[in-house]
Order: sequence, then C-alpha cells, then structure tokens
Amino acid sequence: MTGHQTAVERLLASYRAIPEGAPVRLAKRTSNLFRFRDEIQAPGLDVSGFDKVLSVDPEARVADVQGMTTYEDLVDATLPYGLMPFVVPQLKTITLGGAVTGLGIESSSYRNGLPHESVLEMEILTGAGEVVTATPDNEHRDLFYGFPNSYGTLGYALRLKIKLQPVKPYVALWHVRFSSAQECVEAIDELGAEVDFIDGTVFGGDELYLTLGRFADTAERVSDYTGQGIYYRSIRDRFVTPRWLRPDGPPTDALTTHDYLWRWDTDWFWCSRAFGAQHPLVRRAWPASKKRSDVYRRLVALDKRLQTSARVDRWLGRPPREDVIQDVEVPVERLPEFLEFFHREIGMSPVWLCPLRAQDKWPLYPLEPGRTYVNVGFWGTVPQKPGRLPEHHNRLIEREVARLDGHKSLYSTAFYTREDFWRHYDGATYRTLKEEYDPERRLLDLYDKTVRGR
Ligand SMILES: Cc1cc2nc3c(=O)[nH]c(=O)nc-3n(C[C@H](O)[C@H](O)[C@H](O)COP(=O)(O)OP(=O)(O)OC[C@H]3O[C@@H](n4cnc5c(N)ncnc54)[C@H](O)[C@@H]3O)c2cc1C
Repeated sequence: MTGHQTAVERLLASYRAIPEGAPVRLAKRTSNLFRFRDEIQAPGLDVSGFDKVLSVDPEARVADVQGMTTYEDLVDATLPYGLMPFVVPQLKTITLGGAVTGLGIESSSYRNGLPHESVLEMEILTGAGEVVTATPDNEHRDLFYGFPNSYGTLGYALRLKIKLQPVKPYVALWHVRFSSAQECVEAIDELGAEVDFIDGTVFGGDELYLTLGRFADTAERVSDYTGQGIYYRSIRDRFVTPRWLRPDGPPTDALTTHDYLWRWDTDWFWCSRAFGAQHPLVRRAWPASKKRSDVYRRLVALDKRLQTSARVDRWLGRPPREDVIQDVEVPVERLPEFLEFFHREIGMSPVWLCPLRAQDKWPLYPLEPGRTYVNVGFWGTVPQKPGRLPEHHNRLIEREVARLDGHKSLYSTAFYTREDFWRHYDGATYRTLKEEYDPERRLLDLYDKTVRGR
C-alpha cells in the first residue's frame, strides 16, 4: 500500500503539471481500443505505478488491485489460491480499470454479469484532480454507478477492490451444434442456468454452436490450443447435437482452467488468420510467446500507420475495405433477427455470441437487470460499397441494433448523431456526473472521445 500511496502522489503531481487546456491522456503501453488516433505528442499521465495486484485475501475472497493491472497478471495472482475474478475478459492485456470503464464480457457473464458488477470499491482520480473512493452506498455512489461505459471521461480508476470466485483445475466443455438461430436462442436460458460458462460461435445461418463449460476436478484428456491446434476450429470437430447432449455425460473437450480463460487470446478469437498465423507452416515458425492478442493488435496498428493493406488493395484494383469491428448486445429473443440481418448485409464469419444478464442498473449502459441479452462480436473488414459512405455497414449495424432495442459497445468506431448518442447512453445522468466530477472539462467528453475519435 505504501508503494500505491507514493504512486498516487506522483500521479497527482503529474496531473497538476499538465497545463490547463492541454488534453489529459493515459500513457499506457497496451490498449485494446479499436479507434486509432493520430499519435499525440503531449506527454500522457504516467500510470506505470498502477499495474500491480496489491493483495489477495483467500478467506474473504477479495483482491485489492491497481487500475492498470492486466487480467493476465490478475489471473496469475489469484489462480494459485484457487480463485479467479468473476469475469475475465478474453484478451490478456485488458486491464481491470479498462474493463470496468469500457465494459468487458466473457462466458461467465450469463451467471455473473459484467466485470464491474463484482467490484466492491473503486479509488478514482476524478477530472477535478481529487482522489475519491466510490462504493455502491457512500457519498460517491453516483460515480460508482456512472463509471461503467464512461471510458475515462469522468476519472481514472487507480485501485479497485473486487470479489473473487473459487475455481477447479479444469473446465469441461460441451460444444452443442444448432441448425438455426431460433433453436439456439431457445436453448440459451435453459442451458445457461446449469453451467459455469456459456458462449457461442456462429459459422453460418445453419451452423451455430453454444459452448457450455463446467468446472471439473479431473479430466481424462486435456487439449492444448497454444501450439498447432486452433481453438475455434476445434469447435466444429468436437460437438454434439442437442438431442445427444448429456450434461452429466462425457464432455466433448477439456482444458485447464488457465487455458480455458485464455482460449480466445492465442488466436485473437480467429483474427490471427489475417497474419497467416493459422497456416501450419507459419504457425510452426511463429513463437508460442508471440501468439497473443496484443502482438496481433500491434501488427494491425502498424498496418494502419503504413497503410500497407490499403496500398496492396489499390495496386490489385480491389475496392477499399471498411473495418467492421464491433460488439453489440441484443435481447435474446431478437438474436435471430439480428443474425439474419448480419448474414445478409455484412456477411462476415465467424461471429462470437456471449449471453449475459446484468445484475444491477448502470445508467450509461442501460441494460435491464435480469433480462437475457446476447453479445454479438465481429471483427473484420468488408469491401466498401461504391457510392456509399465509407462507414456504410457500421451505420447499418447501429440502426439495426437500435431497432432491436439493443446497445453497442464504444471501444471501436461509432457514428451516432449527438442527439441519438445521448438518448442511448443517458445524457442527463452523464451531464450531472460531469458537472460534479470534471467541472473544468479537463477530460474529454464521452461523445467527443468515442464518436468523434478525439
Ligand atoms: C477485437 C476486440 C475484441 C474485444 N472483445 C472483447 C471481449 O470479448 N470481451 C471484453 O471484455 N472486451 C472485449 N473488447 C473490448 C475491451 O474490453 C475494451 O476495449 C476495454 O476497454 C479495453 O481495456 P484496456 O484495459 O485495454 O483499456 P485501453 O484500451 O487502454 O483503454 C480503453 C478506454 O478506457 C480508458 N481507461 C483505461 N484504463 C482506465 C482506468 N483505469 N480508469 C478509467 N478509464 C480507463 C481509456 O482512457 C480508454 O478510453 C474487445 C476489443 C477488441 C478490439
């Protein structure tokens, strides 16, 4: 804690040193945002002293964690005690503070809600330059509830106390294949209630899988997808149909709990194929330590900077491509409509599904508590349509999500008008919070940051 106090004092001094009117930004080594901005020359806030797990209390099952600690480090600190956070986002360098302010999700979200729902207390450096502790029932409860989906525009989380859950050494998996979205939807609530983890992968309108996971003390055969094997492909090879699903029967696959938590990181879901990393020869040569989402993300950032893919497309006379990298949530019963729209208008595959139920009300991302939604994640590019806006497909998605009473995450690009945006993300509450915690507007406004890409 002494080290933490010193880091807080250093941070406060560097915050005060930033001239008024100059933008305040985090100087962080990693990011999982998908809004690429021009490099900013001004020095950012040095938050390098905020990347440690301060303590794990195995009796109380809580951890005290600094805001910029990656989930990779957090999991490494808790697993030896047979514990893990209630929700561990799939990408290793997502930080606890980033997941709470920017919304995370994973296959335990049907059972446990979103990462911010197992936070007990947060120490926050506000835009006003004060360090406050916010809990669900103290004088800063408005900030506690308004923090998720504020993307660092109200303040930065420096330390968080979170609840932990017990784990077993293995996760047994059942990949269940469905031949229509309707069948898949009908199974979600029934199956989700019985397992520790549930997510899904869609390869086409008539090929959808739900993957059910249950903690297990033992496993007969344990797979490893960090070498030549590729996790998302294994789903198509090892499945059962609903008719033959026996939850107490043998699983279709099993992983250690550690490998289960990072199953999607090794190949950045399936996105590593863009770099050739799934070709057997390239894969053999690609060092295991570099099969990681942050490595692929750095490659994408480099490509954007050098415009390599765009130039190659131009040389080959191909149309320019539009990035379609988004996560959206739709109410479970509207999923078939969304997928039908998606296959017809966007046509990318695979697509990730993750059922979730929020446990409480969080105004800036207003999901109805207790209602089942499905997160749909898709990360790729499609050819731009001649005569259409370069962001045509992204705009179609925004409209469809709104029509289906869903929500869109803000880690990537967004194109809402100011008016629509504040209707979706509770402008009234945000304005009150901004007035209270960042009255001088030292931090960006949420719309400017997430839509205007400032
Ligand atoms: C391809 C792709 C797939 C994704 N899939 C998933 C997924 O399946 N599950 C999932 O959970 N998430 C997913 N994400 C989203 C990811 O969780 C969010 O982008 C998250 O905000 C990233 O956290 P980070 O720690 O990397 O933060 P950064 O990328 O560094 O920052 C994100 C934002 O949060 C702010 N911020 C960072 N740290 C703090 C802090 N301590 N306090 C306050 N504000 C802070 C930053 O200012 C910035 O605006 C995905 C993203 C991508 C690009």
